[in-house]
Amino acid sequence: MSFDPHHIPDAFDIIIVGSGSGGSVVARRLVDAGHDVLVLEAGGDGRGDPLLEDPTRWMQVGASRHDWGHHYAAHPATLNRAIPIPRGRVLGGCGTTNAMMWYRGHPADYDRWRDLGCTGWGFAECLPAFRACEDWAGEDRGGADCALRGRGGPLKVAPPPPPPPRARAERVEGVSPCFREGDPSWPTSRTGRGTRRRKPYSGASPVGGHRRA
Ligand SMILES: Cc1cc2nc3c(=O)[nH]c(=O)nc-3n(C[C@H](O)[C@H](O)[C@H](O)COP(=O)(O)OP(=O)(O)OC[C@H]3O[C@@H](n4cnc5c(N)ncnc54)[C@H](O)[C@@H]3O)c2cc1C
Repeated sequence: MSFDPHHIPDAFDIIIVGSGSGGSVVARRLVDAGHDVLVLEAGGDGRGDPLLEDPTRWMQVGASRHDWGHHYAAHPATLNRAIPIPRGRVLGGCGTTNAMMWYRGHPADYDRWRDLGCTGWGFAECLPAFRACEDWAGEDRGGADCALRGRGGPLKVAPPPPPPPRARAERVEGVSPCFREGDPSWPTSRTGRGTRRRKPYSGASPVGGHRRA
């Protein structure tokens, strides 16, 4: 269904403020459940902007019109510097401006939350949801990946390409012993054939234009 900004319906079941990572997913789930949803976004569309389409340029986005331009208050502990807090102000929010690293978090953290009383939040209980998100493009390394990774989900997830030897040594040194390559929490990258796959496109795309039939 194409979106005509001159013919916005008078009423919606639900209004979501902000089309970021969270808002987009919630919008899509509500649309799929049969609700009429309006998503309001303060930022612009951003489609076609090379700064957003090329994820390797994510560090430049903070100084662009696609960012809110927030800063921490200057403080003696930061040598009175007002350190920037990048926050996406564009369709897709920070999901459109981020570095596209796919982190699940460490399984032990989830299990600790469960043990502290967060029933249902253990890693094994969350794993089906993680797998449902993913369309894993990595190798099947002897079965472990199959059990831990999902296929056919909306997010393309792949192992990062092999780094140069020196970078590899530094990376492993830097993350060990918390992470080991192949662990379920090992950082992986989200791919879209080298370009950013924006949530509004794969989720509730475009805003207001994906209403139930
Ligand atoms: C530079 C950067 C790099 C990052 N890299 C990674 C990474 O590699 N991997 C990872 O997992 N995470 C990364 N993150 C974090 C991740 O992107 C965010 O945690 C996540 O996108 C936040 O989602 P959200 O829905 O909470 O908020 P957001 O995605 O920020 O969405 C909020 C939306 O609400 C809109 N909004 C705010 N106020 C209003 C208003 N009054 N009216 C209308 N709209 C409004 C904003 O414009 C924005 O679009 C990164 C974040 C940044 C900033």
